[in-house]
Amino acid sequence: MNQKKILVIEDEKTISDIVKFNLTKEGYIVDTAFDGEEGLQKTYSMNPDLILLDIMLPKLDGFQVCKKIRESLNTPVIMLTAKEEEVDKVLGLELGADDYITKPFGMRELIARVKANMRRIDLSNQHESTNGKILDFGILTIDLNRYEVKKHDTVIELTLREFELLKYLAEQESQVFSREQLLEEVWGYEYYGDIRTVDVTVRRLREKIEDNSSEPQYIMTKRGIGYYFRRP
Ligand code: CA
Repeated sequence: MNQKKILVIEDEKTISDIVKFNLTKEGYIVDTAFDGEEGLQKTYSMNPDLILLDIMLPKLDGFQVCKKIRESLNTPVIMLTAKEEEVDKVLGLELGADDYITKPFGMRELIARVKANMRRIDLSNQHESTNGKILDFGILTIDLNRYEVKKHDTVIELTLREFELLKYLAEQESQVFSREQLLEEVWGYEYYGDIRTVDVTVRRLREKIEDNSSEPQYIMTKRGIGYYFRRP
């Protein structure tokens, strides 16, 4: 079995130690960084499969680190937040974090989140090795094999999670899904999700694929229910 690598960027040694201990026990290869700069260096040198990123960090804070990572990588990032204001910021700033977990968190919750995020990576790798197809919506195309979305023949950069959400909705054109359903199907949560995550990801996706994100043509809102994909 190919062991997955996790980078933990967290300056509090007690938290870092216990997280490392527990994730190692789950079979992951874990490395740690104790400030933002070291975190970025290790992100590039180790190329982890997933990153756990604290927000309050010396040198560069978690927001800056996440932004930097997103300039070149779509590695899943789970932010570790200590306060409700940070949650709002994680969601509001649209940094490209895939998920967040609020401190203090239990190890079971953390491991469940990590596994859910890793499962998405496995699924996308499986798709790469099978014969994918291209969903063609005229000027918008979704290449399931190459994980590539194009509009007017220009590639649109999406995070893995944004892609997964778009793919899920587009493959089941016109079908309406509740936020809870999307959280379970696209994020893979059973108990721990926050439905705001779905709204934020939809918003980001609209900003990237729609001509005008406040008047979407593809990702539609069904008031009081959820979202669906429509061929314009
Ligand atoms: Ca900290």
